[in-house]
Amino acid sequence: MKRFLVFAFAAASVCLQAQAPGVGKAVDWNKLRPEILDRYRSLVQIDSTAGHETLVVDYLKKVFEAEGIPTQTFALNPNRANLVARLKGNGSKRPLLILAHTDVVGVQREKWPVDPFGAVMKDGYIWGRGSKDDKPVLVANLITMLMLKRQAVPLDRDVIFLAESGEEADLEGVGINFMVREHFPAIDAEFAMTEGGGADIENGRVARVNIGTAEKVPARVRLVASGTAGHGSVPRLDNPLIHLGAAVEKVGLWETPMRLNETTRTYFEKLAAISAPERASIFKALLDPKTANDAQKLLREHAPGQYSVLRTSVVPTILKAGVGANVIPSEAEATLDIRALPDENIEAFYKELAKVIDDPAVRVERIPQTRPASPASKLGTDMYRAMERAAQAIYPGATVIPSMSTGASDMAQLRAKGIQSYGVGPASTEADQTNYPAHGDVERLAESSLYPFVQYVWNVVTEIAAHK
Ligand SMILES: [Zn+2]
Repeated sequence: MKRFLVFAFAAASVCLQAQAPGVGKAVDWNKLRPEILDRYRSLVQIDSTAGHETLVVDYLKKVFEAEGIPTQTFALNPNRANLVARLKGNGSKRPLLILAHTDVVGVQREKWPVDPFGAVMKDGYIWGRGSKDDKPVLVANLITMLMLKRQAVPLDRDVIFLAESGEEADLEGVGINFMVREHFPAIDAEFAMTEGGGADIENGRVARVNIGTAEKVPARVRLVASGTAGHGSVPRLDNPLIHLGAAVEKVGLWETPMRLNETTRTYFEKLAAISAPERASIFKALLDPKTANDAQKLLREHAPGQYSVLRTSVVPTILKAGVGANVIPSEAEATLDIRALPDENIEAFYKELAKVIDDPAVRVERIPQTRPASPASKLGTDMYRAMERAAQAIYPGATVIPSMSTGASDMAQLRAKGIQSYGVGPASTEADQTNYPAHGDVERLAESSLYPFVQYVWNVVTEIAAHK
């Protein structure tokens, strides 16, 4: 019965879906559902933890080739291949890249109530590792390519499909780093769309659609304190633990300057417009320099995630020191996970950090980063507007909100190459986001969220790429 209700809700949202202009034949989404579900479940059933991504490439290759869509594979490591498929446009506009990663994080089988690679359907959900991260985006991109081909949709721009390996774990650089470095012409585009957004379900309907437009830049450092080694029975002023402890306290409590950018300003403005009065007043206060300071202090205490998007954050995460209870070591070390605003002057920031520590016994060592600094993508582009229109068509009444991730994604490499890149994701409830998150012990996606999400991706792609 419960299953039936979920199904009915999804069906209602389908009727309201508008067809993108320029697309000749309308897609019969009800008829397409079994295929969407079957392909999605097939993808979830592939155990594509790091080192096994080629299994997904093999599946996709077969599907594309059966439909007459040529593919290319690019592999630095033969077990971790990437796949590209391209549908040609008339060349009047620059390409659109739709990408998704094929790898999933590992599983602890004993935590799962079902087979983590079974794509088991239970209680209205499809359960499995990758069911959220990132196989919904992968299947939405796949179905979009198949339907563009089947309907022979005339395109103003090439649509490039990329299935990439190693997003979750890529010490070898087999995925986006390899594609950008060695095969950039195969994926070069004006716009890109991938994971990194989402939508929030409240009281049974989608209330907010989040478009990922920016992310913070990892800029981690190590603090190393040095002193004289000695006997634990003799106190020394140059004990590195004392110096490191003081430095960690200073930087951990350092209130770095708050600064809004186009994305975060719009994010808080939109939230202010739709939030309950008490929260709305905090968000409004953030936008006014006279009241921002008190408002952000409230966020620091009650909403650390939102506090973090206001600034470059400094978070101590590892401490290392000592060999024995009776030994003063000559060195002590702390790791700081620094996440910079996209426009941060990182050299100046490190200088400021050293000033805050203000101790010659403590030096700051940079840790090499695997992702480049990346500028935020713009909100005024044709692509962003296409995404807004598509969101309004598929999720009527929802507020569209741009968001900056405090984490990092493969959009960093694309944005660093000048591609305006945007994040999407299927809708979920707050309870599901908390209890069944990406990378959590157990992952699942509501079947009723899958179909509208595929339609959303299709609508965006046809809006921005179809010849009108
Ligand atoms: Zn992911």
